[in-house]
Amino acid sequence: MAIKPLQKWIPNLKKPLVIAGPCSAETREQMLQAAKELVQIEDVRIFRAGIWKPRTRPNSFEGVGEDGLKWLKEVKEETGLLTSTEVANTQHVELALKYGVDILWIGARTSVNPFSVQEIADAIKGTDIPVMVKNPINADLALWRGAIERIQGAGITKLAAIHRGFSTFEKSKYRNNPLWRIPMELKRIMPDLPIICDPSHISGDRSLVPYICQKAMDIDMDGVMVESHPTPDQAWSDAAQQITPATLAELVKNLNVRTEFTTDRNFSAELEDLRKDIDRIDHEILEALSMRSNIVERIAHAKHKNNITALQVHRMDQLMNNRINNGAKIGLREKFIKELYHVIHEDSVKTQNEIMNAIVSKSAKENEKPSE
Ligand code: PEP
Ligand code: MN
Repeated sequence: MAIKPLQKWIPNLKKPLVIAGPCSAETREQMLQAAKELVQIEDVRIFRAGIWKPRTRPNSFEGVGEDGLKWLKEVKEETGLLTSTEVANTQHVELALKYGVDILWIGARTSVNPFSVQEIADAIKGTDIPVMVKNPINADLALWRGAIERIQGAGITKLAAIHRGFSTFEKSKYRNNPLWRIPMELKRIMPDLPIICDPSHISGDRSLVPYICQKAMDIDMDGVMVESHPTPDQAWSDAAQQITPATLAELVKNLNVRTEFTTDRNFSAELEDLRKDIDRIDHEILEALSMRSNIVERIAHAKHKNNITALQVHRMDQLMNNRINNGAKIGLREKFIKELYHVIHEDSVKTQNEIMNAIVSKSAKENEKPSE
């Protein structure tokens, strides 16, 4: 069944959709205070709070359980916000449905496990509840897609993906590496699926949250899910990455939001003209690359005759410096030229090696032939 656009399940939605709320439900007061402050932000339409918390190691706070569902219900009644929480098994689903949670999400430690996802899919079958599927903690697009398909297979059409980054052993500036190519590829293979970015779990650090939100907007994601707590430093989980509702308001105000399509005819005509220019220039670039390739072949034959290696490091150095300097003179960024010529030069060396090896094995074969 076709996936329903966000507008079909979130009334009067304007881009971007902002989902906000604490990492964990802690107390009734904390929940209501957060929600009352967050509802003041126009773009915040969904309140989030974890009721059951999948913690990495035991003996840490594992969520308030059923009490939190009562508080979520109060949040809905008092603020009119839609409510959402994480579910990881049948019992969670049944309780969330019983207390009228509006939207469920499947966490990164659950979407990694097809048995658990199927259990959730079976538990929600026959309902119309919207479900958001976080990416699995490891960078496996097929597993993410599979989890989404299992939920879709249960007849759920109000679906979204949440990009929360991928766990790595090597620690970087991110808690979870965003690997933007993966959600972009998901969008390519499932174009109707809304994708929401979770900058809080990607960053693990509140100072990076605005930057990641903007990045998500720049690649046309549909919204953001941001952890927001009235007193972040006192949060019972994920304290370092949560921001106050006031900070979130500022963040949302400063977001530069663009859309992928428009109905403005003048703009479309202008864009089409510019794209024709780009198409023509790309054609010229390809022709130039093909001419370059022909010369690379001639170089390979000459190198073979003189027993010279395909890769000559001094030449690579010279070439790179020369191209970077020339590029800079006409306004091209050093990083871009460096990356471009790495690819071009690597391909050239590979081609030369292939040609030279082919000549060697051809003459070896000829030598093997018995003389007549
Ligand atoms: C959460 O949203 O609080 C959470 C546990 O996220 P994730 O599943 O992405 O780690
Ligand atoms: Mn969290």
